[in-house]
Amino acid sequence: MKCNYQSLPNLNMDVTISFCRRASRTKIDLPDSEVHDENPDDDPTRLPAGPGRRRERAARMRPELADAEPRPVWWDNMPTGPRSDRLIGAVGADLVIIGAGYTGLWAAIEALTEDPSRDVVVLEQQWVGSGASGRNGGFVSESLTHGIAHGAALWPDELDELQRLGRQNVAQIADFVAAHEIDADLRMVGKTTLARTEHEVAALRKAADTHAHHGEKVEFLDRDEVCADIASPAFLAGMRSHAGGLIDPMALVQGLRRAAETLGARIFEQTAATGIGRRGGMLTVRTDRGGVRTGHVLLASNAYPPLLRRLKAWMLPVYDYVLATAPLTAEQLASVGWQQNQGLTDAGNQFHYFRRTRDDRILWGGYDAIYHFGNRVAPELEQRDASHRLLARHFRETFPQLADVPFTHRWGGVIDTTTRFTPIFGTGYDGRVAYAVGFTGLGVASTRFGAQVALDLLAKRDTERTRLKAVTGMAVPFPPEPLRWPAVELTRAALAREDETGRRGTLLRVLDHLGVGFNS
Ligand SMILES: Cc1cc2nc3c(=O)[nH]c(=O)nc-3n(C[C@H](O)[C@H](O)[C@H](O)COP(=O)(O)OP(=O)(O)OC[C@H]3O[C@@H](n4cnc5c(N)ncnc54)[C@H](O)[C@@H]3O)c2cc1C
Repeated sequence: MKCNYQSLPNLNMDVTISFCRRASRTKIDLPDSEVHDENPDDDPTRLPAGPGRRRERAARMRPELADAEPRPVWWDNMPTGPRSDRLIGAVGADLVIIGAGYTGLWAAIEALTEDPSRDVVVLEQQWVGSGASGRNGGFVSESLTHGIAHGAALWPDELDELQRLGRQNVAQIADFVAAHEIDADLRMVGKTTLARTEHEVAALRKAADTHAHHGEKVEFLDRDEVCADIASPAFLAGMRSHAGGLIDPMALVQGLRRAAETLGARIFEQTAATGIGRRGGMLTVRTDRGGVRTGHVLLASNAYPPLLRRLKAWMLPVYDYVLATAPLTAEQLASVGWQQNQGLTDAGNQFHYFRRTRDDRILWGGYDAIYHFGNRVAPELEQRDASHRLLARHFRETFPQLADVPFTHRWGGVIDTTTRFTPIFGTGYDGRVAYAVGFTGLGVASTRFGAQVALDLLAKRDTERTRLKAVTGMAVPFPPEPLRWPAVELTRAALAREDETGRRGTLLRVLDHLGVGFNS
């Protein structure tokens, strides 16, 4: 296995820049002519600039993506589309859950496990798993704080408690998956975070100490050790963590749906909740063709326009893009190594996440994340040529030995970002509506914890969860448009500079001080 196939450019020098780590890596969506998705200095075969040349270059990039199916690889051989009725007319329920991703499904499961006699209705505007839950990377993280370093910065005094609850949450998910025989390829293989620059090497050394200090089993890997594990000329060091794992996200959705329905939840697909009203002592959730009269409502609607309008101030929907390759042959796999089959991710502000699927494709996502003016969310935003092309190019640069492996799937999904990168919780309508939103790209596991918090709030229970500052505190709101757009742009430029230089500039330090966590 060789690591030095060729000398690679530093990917973090690319002009595409991010607003923050993972989901929050936000780039303003510019017209195509203004999208700088190539670094002019790193492509020896590049064409001179200019609109005609740009079109020519785009055309040259397209063929390798032309055959890629425009949908998540996870949807192959899975039931997709609606499988239950729309709600037509009026019904009653004890609890109405809005949204059927992980948050909504876990909420239904937990509510019915607590009290099997409860009447629980789940309203889903599209179909179960059509949102982020059915299209994510499937990294199962124990962290409830978007990483230990971020948790240490925001809630140092309760981080150990948050870590304990996060570990317990993942262990309980694994038990649930086993007990319900959910065939979701859950593998507790941990992940390796990879440094591509010298300053990231130094940051990873420090991070390894912090993780170990908080009880996580981690090892710092030098260049030779990383290379022996993952054969790529791009990586200078790594941090191997043995916490968490990987899952097939859509298979998890299907398993949770089956469990919720078995417990008695009534799911209505193609049924958008359009508003909440009060009548007498009860609430009414209006839908496009009917309504539900209920005592309690749980909002699990993620990055979509929230029914409690005030939540808009705290939520920034950003689009994240992903590619998947054809299954690798044994020889191709051997050329990379990767024998522990763990999740992989880069260490910078803009980072890729990548992993093998059950059938040994490589899923390769991240880096770009696109914010659309005015919090826009729409199905047509799930495909973006510029971001997919950029991902393809980075993949080829990272694994030159896989130059011939075709991409078979391309897709995108929307992530609900908050300024603190962790969800926000709260209530409205005199405590009868509760919300858990803002998982910021790390919700595969933490949505279960979020659903439990929202149920605690509806029941007005004082629990170890509801006492946490990470639950009771509120994130700093994003400014409204038209200020939101330039604020995002300024921040992303500062983060790009940090990726380039390794120095955290004044703006980011001020934001850190305000509790806006751009330091993970
Ligand atoms: C590309 C991508 C990669 C990711 N990778 C990872 C990863 O590797 N690891 C990780 O931990 N996290 C990852 N995430 C984040 C993770 O997927 C989410 O945090 C998680 O799925 C959120 O679950 P949810 O149920 O809150 O939201 P969703 O799954 O989005 O579900 C919300 C549902 O609410 C419905 N809805 C919204 N409004 C209404 C309404 N008014 N009426 C009825 N229904 C409504 C929507 O249609 C949707 O189905 C990723 C996300 C994306 C997009």
